Amino acid sequence: VADMQHNAQHALAIDIGGTKIAAAVVRSDGELLGQNRVAVQPTRDPNLMLKWVIDCAARAVEVSSVPASGIIGVGCGCGGPMKWPEGIVSPINIPAWRDFPLRRRLASAFPDGPVLLHNDAIALAVGDHWRGPAAGARNMLAITVSTGIGGGLILDNELFHGKSGNAGHVGHIIIEPDGPRCACGAHGCLEAIASGPNTVRWALDQGWQPASGESADGPGLARAAEAGDDIARRALTRAGAAVGTGAASMANVLDLDAIVIAGGFSRSGRYFWDALHGAFGSYARMRFSQTTRVERDESRGETSLLGAAGFVLFPERYGWSL
Ligand SMILES: [Zn+2]
Repeated sequence: VADMQHNAQHALAIDIGGTKIAAAVVRSDGELLGQNRVAVQPTRDPNLMLKWVIDCAARAVEVSSVPASGIIGVGCGCGGPMKWPEGIVSPINIPAWRDFPLRRRLASAFPDGPVLLHNDAIALAVGDHWRGPAAGARNMLAITVSTGIGGGLILDNELFHGKSGNAGHVGHIIIEPDGPRCACGAHGCLEAIASGPNTVRWALDQGWQPASGESADGPGLARAAEAGDDIARRALTRAGAAVGTGAASMANVLDLDAIVIAGGFSRSGRYFWDALHGAFGSYARMRFSQTTRVERDESRGETSLLGAAGFVLFPERYGWSL
């Protein structure tokens, strides 16, 4: 143990979302030290939002008891869109930041090593590949089903970026060419059909009414389905089938060992999952895609932090040059 700790390296990991910021010091054996989490208040002030991030991360370092000099760099996951690898962000769910030079500002606050910033769905994919349900998979895709639908690809044991860092945007696979309009401008994208808010909207359009005391959101819809509401069941079945269909297309194209499904809305219960597995089985029919494993990641944030740390702890697999 002493020897392993002697050789261990540490990275500061930051995960920035629209409603919360999380940070931790991550040791190269996957241990999370000094994990810290703060809620994000609505703000239009870009510097205030940045201050919350820096304070949250600095506190994580403090609590971890790892000296700042022992931290080799900072890995950060943040909602997109962003300019990569520059890390200039305009997250849909963080209105305070438009063309905000987040990577450069973090580098000023934590000047002792590289700061690597990528899409939060990419961080999650790296975490799933390093220490999650896809550990050991040479080729894998992580799909995050949440407010939006995102993804990240590991091919041949290396994070795959594409030409602009946007590889893995599975939310915009076309599921129904004549389907609902997507925020991207196309029609029938996976995200337009199966994200949490779009599934709730579909249910409401079909006449779903949350029971009194329940909210018209993903968790409310999941509880309604469990309680026997037929529209809620159909809505979750439709969403799960769409995710399973998209996942099957990806398995057919990429010959994957594993696909990991993560994100808050993926915790919507059996109607979602039964439909997902059913659609995957129907559409992944090539001999090689039939053997692609479909796994759940039900961690709540730890995997994203592990992945963000992975950017700097394992640069040959998960890193990039600026
Ligand atoms: Zn789209």
